[in-house]
Amino acid sequence: MSGVAIVTGGTRGIGKAISARLKGDGYTVAAIYGGNDEAAKACADELGIAVYRCDVSDPEGCAETVSRIEAEHGPVAVLVNNAGITRDGMFHKMSADQWRAVLSTNLDSAFNMTRPVIDGMRERGFGRIVSISSINGQKGQLGQVNYSAAKAGLIGFTRALAMETARKGITVNAIAPGYVETDMTSQMKPEVLQSIVAGIPVGRMGKPEEIAHAVSYLVSEHAGFVTGAVLTANGGQYVAA
Ligand code: NDP
Repeated sequence: MSGVAIVTGGTRGIGKAISARLKGDGYTVAAIYGGNDEAAKACADELGIAVYRCDVSDPEGCAETVSRIEAEHGPVAVLVNNAGITRDGMFHKMSADQWRAVLSTNLDSAFNMTRPVIDGMRERGFGRIVSISSINGQKGQLGQVNYSAAKAGLIGFTRALAMETARKGITVNAIAPGYVETDMTSQMKPEVLQSIVAGIPVGRMGKPEEIAHAVSYLVSEHAGFVTGAVLTANGGQYVAA
C-alpha cells in the first residue's frame, strides 16, 4: 500500500514500531511526538521518516500539523491514534489535572487528529483509522480511573465513527493491547510488573512489534470488511466479549 500514514506518538515505544512497520509496508510515514526532541530525531534518523512536534491535546495545533503534513507529503490515507500517557493514582486522591491530562491526551486527541483528516478521506472514498486503546479500557484497572475512562472512550469513538464512515470506504478500528514492553511500562514497579506477568497466560509481556503487525493488517487493503472492531492483543490476560 502507499500513501501518507500519520502515527501519533510515533517516535517511541509501540508508536515507533508502528511507524517502522508502516514504512516497511510502503507508506510515507509522518510521526507526531509531544516533546522529546532527542528521541524523535533518533527515530527519524533510524527509520528515515518525517517527525512533527505537536501536542495532540491541542485541537488547533493538530489541525495545523495535519495541514503541514498534507502540504509536504500529500493526502492522508492512514491515521493511527497512538499517543498516550498515564497519570496514575487512586481516584479518591486524583486531581482534576491528572484527570484532564489523561483524558485530553488519550481521548480528545482522537477527535483533534481525526477531525482534520476525515473530510479528505470522505472525498477520496478511502481511509484507515486505528486507535490504540488498552486492556484497561475494556476491564478497568484500579489506580487508572482516568486512563480506563479514556481508553474505553476510544472504543465508543471507534464503533460510532465506523458506522458513520462505512459507506465512504473508511474503516475505523481499535486495538486493545495488554502489557507491552515500552518506556510506559518500564516506569512501573518491578514487583507490580512481575505479578501482572504471572497473570498473563502466554507468560510474558507483549512486544511493540506485535501491536505494529496488527495495525499493519487493519490498515491493509485486505481488511476492508473489518470496521468497528476492537482487536485484543493481550496474551490471553483478559478475554473480552
Ligand atoms: P510511550 O510512553 O513509550 O510513548 C508515548 C509516545 O506518545 C511518545 O512518542 C510521546 O512523545 C507521545 N506523546 C505523549 N504525549 C503526547 C502529546 N501530548 N502529544 C503528542 N505526542 C505525545 O508509550 P507506549 O508506546 O507504551 O504506548 C503507546 C500507546 O499504547 C498509548 O496510547 C498507550 O496508552 C497504549 N498502550 C500501551 C500499553 C503498554 O503496555 N505499553 C498497553 C496498552 C495500551 P514524546 O516522546 O515526545 O514524549
